[in-house]
Amino acid sequence: MRREFSAGGVVVRKIRGGWHLAAIRPGGKNDVWALPKGLVGEGESPADTALREVTEETGVRGRLVEKLGDIRYVYTWKGERVFKVVSFYLVRYSNGRLGDITEEFRHEVADTKWLPLAEAPRLLSYKGEREMAAKALLLIDERPV
Ligand code: ATP
Repeated sequence: MRREFSAGGVVVRKIRGGWHLAAIRPGGKNDVWALPKGLVGEGESPADTALREVTEETGVRGRLVEKLGDIRYVYTWKGERVFKVVSFYLVRYSNGRLGDITEEFRHEVADTKWLPLAEAPRLLSYKGEREMAAKALLLIDERPV
């Protein structure tokens, strides 16, 4: 089976006293809310990929806090099954405006939104990503980042 390895970020930010997470609506998909992520490049560390993809797909920059975990799924592309692993990192928002993405990445992202972190485990579309949001929520409750 073909394999793919991506990395992404759970970008958190306090807005008016409440923690939020940066979510994207991938281009060409209806009603899907997902986390920013992308393929790990040659010679690139997954942590660097996560930060790069966060900026490309959301327009904001952040600093790495820690790794949250890996998610796994299988999908079919042109009749071929692909086994995919995605490493997710907790990222603390530092600067930039959500949705401020360059032309190059605009076709990949239809929309962006700050979701309340407490509701993200319910609002995100994919089970693995919901679990990453739940993990981020637990970590932030324990130890404010
Ligand atoms: P990347 O963002 O890593 O460059 P991509 O956009 O090429 O990847 P995926 O986001 O992995 O591809 O999407 C490929 C297929 O897998 C799509 O049909 C998508 O709906 C589905 N998919 C994406 N994320 C998940 C997930 N966490 N769990 C299950 N299926 C998923």
